[in-house]
Parts: sequence; C-alpha cells; structure tokens
Amino acid sequence: MSFKSLGLSEPLLRAIRKKGYETPSPIQQKAIPPVLEGKDVLASAQTGTGKTAGFTLPLLQYLSDKPQQRNRPIRALILTPTRELAAQVYTNVKEYSEFLNIRSAVIFGGVKQRPQVATLRQGIDVLIATPGRLIDLENQDIISLNRIEIFVLDEADRMLDMGFLRDIERIMKLMPKRRQNLMFSATFSKDIKKLAYSILHNPIQVEA
Ligand code: AMP
Repeated sequence: MSFKSLGLSEPLLRAIRKKGYETPSPIQQKAIPPVLEGKDVLASAQTGTGKTAGFTLPLLQYLSDKPQQRNRPIRALILTPTRELAAQVYTNVKEYSEFLNIRSAVIFGGVKQRPQVATLRQGIDVLIATPGRLIDLENQDIISLNRIEIFVLDEADRMLDMGFLRDIERIMKLMPKRRQNLMFSATFSKDIKKLAYSILHNPIQVEA
C-alpha cells in the first residue's frame, strides 16, 4: 500500500516524501479513504500511530480540491485538549500544506491574544485550537465558525478528562449542522461513546 494508492494528490505526496515517510501507517491506510470520501470517521488511535497525518492529509486534500471562497472563511477546525498538542498539529498542517494554497493558524490560551488575532485577520482556511481560547475569540467576534466544513476532535478522551465537555457542546452550536466530523480517541468509555453519538453521523469506525 502506498500514499499514492490512497488517492492523495501530488502536492501532498511531495510533502510526504519530504517528511521521509515511505508507507502509510495502519491508521492512515484505514482513515484516509473514508475521510476523502467525505464520511464521518470515528478512529481509535493512540499518539505515535501517525493519527495526525491520518486526518490532516485528507482534510487538506478536501479543502484544496474545493474552490477557495473570496472572503476566506475558516473551513476546517481541529480541536485539541492542550496547547502542546495544538502546536504539534499545527506544525504538521504547515508541513503537509507546504505545496498547497492553504493557510492555517493555531490559537491557545496562556499567551497574548494579539499576535494570534493578527494572523486570524489575514484570513485562514484551517484553525487548530484549544477550547478556551477559541470560545474567548468567538465571543469577541474575532472568529466565526459558521462556515466550517470539517470538524476534527483530537484526543477526545483527554478532552473529557480535562473537563471540556461543556466547551465542546458550545463550540458545536457555533458550526453549521452540515459538515464532516472526525473524532479520534485512544479509549472508548461510555461518555466517549455518548459524545461520539452526539457529534458523528453514520461514522465509519477505524482502529489503529
Ligand atoms: P502521531 O501519532 O500523529 O503523533 O505521529 C507520530 C510520529 O510518526 C510523528 O513523528 C510523525 O511524523 C510520524 N509519522 C506519521 N506517519 C508516518 C509514516 N507513514 N511513516 C513514518 N512516520 C510517520
């Protein structure tokens, strides 16, 4: 199995070559095709399995295949529990989108808001965020989520452990109902299943 046979486009294959990856990991083999088809996906995957590329690569391909809109609304939201993870995912998104016309930004709390706001004002396609700062900036009308086409909830189990359920529910209400949803979690408690049920529509389930 190759990245090319998964249906990824040349600009992404180029970025993958640059990273030095030779073959897709099991989670990538299983998650990339349904995400490219526009399906909702529920993935069971730990850190270290290559899950980040598993959702980032097809998400970028989906966005670059569809024409850019003039006023450049935020089209994809990747929600992560911690700023470290947000920063890591952002680095990945930057690397994989190097040869695409896609702009991204990361926002998280604990640092000054102003530089993040300046980046957002330039217009971005993909936003990586932690819940608190996202809600803050939305309340200030700096961010609008009403044009989101793809929503990714990364490390959903840690989100719940950290008490972000209410925040996630608030964020969900700010996005259009019609969108693609991807949810990643290492564990599947009753609460996680309940959350998955409330977010995902007829999801394809994949395991690393
Ligand atoms: P993740 O599980 O997304 O945190 O990724 C774990 C590590 O594996 C990261 O350092 C990635 O750069 C790397 N990685 C992801 N996909 C592949 C792949 N197909 N081949 C080799 N390394 C990979």
